[in-house]
Amino acid sequence: MNSDNISWIREHGKTAQGKNEYLDYLESGKKLSPAKALKAQCFQCMNSYLDGKDDCEIIDCPLYPYMPYRKDNVKAKRVMSEKQQDSLQKLVSLRSGTRRIANGSK
Ligand code: SF4
Repeated sequence: MNSDNISWIREHGKTAQGKNEYLDYLESGKKLSPAKALKAQCFQCMNSYLDGKDDCEIIDCPLYPYMPYRKDNVKAKRVMSEKQQDSLQKLVSLRSGTRRIANGSK
């Protein structure tokens, strides 16, 4: 990518998720994390969101479930196993005990 294109994106590209990631990638050529690469790809695919930060509605794209501006972007709730729930309870009780000791109460 030449510097003219990078300058164009800086000047005209909408301030949107993926802009900084895409520019980082173009300028440094370094490998992005999967989450950053996904945002950068959608930013590029949506032509820098020049028409607005909209849902692309391309449901057959493998990245669509993670598209940043997807209309029904409801994050999946994490389901914890019993072992994870037990560990979380232990951690919470341990931390609350630490606070009580730090505050000087029993
Ligand atoms: S999800 Fe949409 S915007 Fe993102 S890469 Fe796929 S088609 Fe392009």
